[in-house]
Amino acid sequence: MKPIEHIYPQLENCAGIVIVPHQKPDADAMGASLALFHMLKKQGHSPTVVSPTNWASWLNWMPGIKEVLDYEKEKDKVKADNQIADASLIFCLDYNVLHRTKKMEQALSMAKGLKVLIDHHEYNESSDFAFGISDPERSSTCELVYEFFCGWKKEQDVDADIAQCIYAGLVGDTGSFRFPSTSARVHEIVAALKKKGLNHSYVHEQLYDNFLENRLRFIGHVLLNRMEVFYEYNTVLIAIPKSDLYKYEIKTGDTEGLVNYPLSIQGIKLAALVIDREEERKWSFRSKGDFDCNRFARKYFEGGGHFNAAGGRSSDTLSQTVQQFKKAMAENKDLLQ
Ligand code: 5GP
Ligand code: MN
Repeated sequence: MKPIEHIYPQLENCAGIVIVPHQKPDADAMGASLALFHMLKKQGHSPTVVSPTNWASWLNWMPGIKEVLDYEKEKDKVKADNQIADASLIFCLDYNVLHRTKKMEQALSMAKGLKVLIDHHEYNESSDFAFGISDPERSSTCELVYEFFCGWKKEQDVDADIAQCIYAGLVGDTGSFRFPSTSARVHEIVAALKKKGLNHSYVHEQLYDNFLENRLRFIGHVLLNRMEVFYEYNTVLIAIPKSDLYKYEIKTGDTEGLVNYPLSIQGIKLAALVIDREEERKWSFRSKGDFDCNRFARKYFEGGGHFNAAGGRSSDTLSQTVQQFKKAMAENKDLLQ
C-alpha cells in the first residue's frame, strides 16, 4: 500500500469515484464518507457513497445522506454495482478488511479501480489497497479524512456541511472527547471546524438526543435484567436475547453506546455486550486501561477493532457464546486484575 499522498495527482483527473463505509455505518464511517463526498464534489467530481447496509436513523440529519445508496436495497444495488465496476478509485473508510462490507465484499474484490484505504483500526496487512493511510493512533477516520484534506491543500474548501460531518465522527469515536485517543490535534481540528461554521451542539443533539421512548425503556430493562457483574474479574456482561429486540421494537443504531454503561461502575475494566441478531451473535467489547479488547476479540470471537473498543461475532447460540465468553474471561483473569 503506497502512502495516501500519492493519490493527490490522480485526483486531478479521474473518472468515477465510489466511497464505501463499513456495514451498519456509525457516525465516524458515515461522517467520513459524506465529508469526502462533499469535498470531492467541490473539486468537480461526481462521487457516489454506497453503504453496505442500512444505517441508524440518527444519522439522517447528515448533509448529503439522501444521496447515499443502500446496497441491501435491490434498486440501489444495481446502481452501485455499475458504479463500482466503472470506478477508477474506491475509497474504503473506517475498516481495513473487505469482509466488513458484508455482501459488497465480492463486488469490491473484483473491481478494477484502485482501492484507497483511510482507517484507524489495528492494521492487519492486506494487499487489497493500492494507496492509503492506516493509523491506529488516530481517534477516528474523520480525523484522518480532515488530515487528508489538509495534505491535499483543500482546507479552505471545508465548509459548515463538511465540518458537521467530520465533527460527528470525532465526537462519536472519542466518546465525546474522553477516550485516550483524544489528542491535542483532535482539539485543534475541532477549533478549525468551529471557524468554518460548525454548530457542535446541533450535531450532539442529533446524535444523542434523537431516540424514541422505547429505546430508553429498553436500556432500563437491559441494565436491570440482562447485566451480570463479575467483580472477581472486573468484568460486566450484557447478553440480549432476540425477544427483547422484538418487544422493544429495537432498530439499527438503538443499541449503540449500550456497551459503555457498565464502564461507569467503579473498578470495571472490561464491558462485553452480545446481541442475538438474526444472522449471528454480535459482540462488542470496551475496556478501560491496559486490557486489550482487540486481541481478545480476535482470539475468541473472530473480530477485531481497537485496543479499548472492539467487536466480534459467533455463529453459536446465545447461551453457547455466553459460556465461551465466561471461559475466556476466566482465562484472562490475570490481565483483568
Ligand atoms: P462496535 O462494538 O461499536 O460494533 O465496534 C467497536 C470497534 O470494533 C469498531 O471500531 C468496529 O469497527 C470494530 N469492529 C466491530 N466488529 C468487528 C468485527 O467483527 N471485526 C473487526 N475486525 N472489527 C470489528
Ligand atoms: Mn471509526
